[in-house]
Amino acid sequence: MKWTNSSLNRDRSQATKTPNDFRKLRQQASLKTQGRGWGTCRLCEENGDLRESHITSKFLWKVTGIIGNKRKFSATSTSHPHLSEPHRQDAFKEYLLCDRCEAQFGRYEAYARKKFFGKNSPLLNRPNQHYIWTGLDYRRLKLFQMSLLWRMGVSSHPYYAGVKLGKHEAIMRSMLHAEDPGEPWQYGCIATLLSHARKPLVAFFSQAERIQLWGHSCYRLALAGMHWFTFVSSHKPSPTACELFLNREGSWLLFHGEVFDFPYLRAQVMELRARDKAMGSQNSREDNQIS
Ligand SMILES: [Zn+2]
Repeated sequence: MKWTNSSLNRDRSQATKTPNDFRKLRQQASLKTQGRGWGTCRLCEENGDLRESHITSKFLWKVTGIIGNKRKFSATSTSHPHLSEPHRQDAFKEYLLCDRCEAQFGRYEAYARKKFFGKNSPLLNRPNQHYIWTGLDYRRLKLFQMSLLWRMGVSSHPYYAGVKLGKHEAIMRSMLHAEDPGEPWQYGCIATLLSHARKPLVAFFSQAERIQLWGHSCYRLALAGMHWFTFVSSHKPSPTACELFLNREGSWLLFHGEVFDFPYLRAQVMELRARDKAMGSQNSREDNQIS
């Protein structure tokens, strides 16, 4: 895991807090130890008890075998080792949402889980070439896609420090709160099913990072063996790009690609291998790694 400069900035911002802020933080920490949090729900913006939510949906971690059955994984920061989290048993969590909003996102997750990992899913029965996935519920799947990136954007966990949505954070919040999936091009996503040496690559995650693609800001990351390019732009991308997004008719073009086709992912895979080798057999046998 490479911490970016933005995560350092977040660390420094702690030093600007007033004694009153720290008193509030201590109160919140005390509540958290009792298994609950008190604060403002990031989605409905109402005050109340908050649920400790998974920032990235738990099922994406669980079905890929990174967590579950007492399995552990290590999140290792190569740039900021003190922030590494070795031997974790659960995915990253944070007090973000009230019960009602957690349940709302839970409905999208239930749908996405059924489509992604249910019978006849292209994620499990990998096609050998590009594939047009049909019969999808545009509204639920689009809201799920948007909720994933938005949660990373509002999270204060340093693993997601690379996601800074700016003015789009409020726009996405408003759309998600209203359960409005918007137009297909708004926060549309281009997806690729990843393979390695022609075998499906499922248990692979990468940190989200912002890039420019075809003149638009875009976040790229690997999640559960699927590579996502999500556009975060106020302007409509070209018709060619729009053809690649999930559309209102419920179809979505999935590309098929080798992980090494993406140079930045290739670099991460090579780094993981080198780290495993350096760690020797004792840890690498028992822990999965994410970067
Ligand atoms: Zn809420």
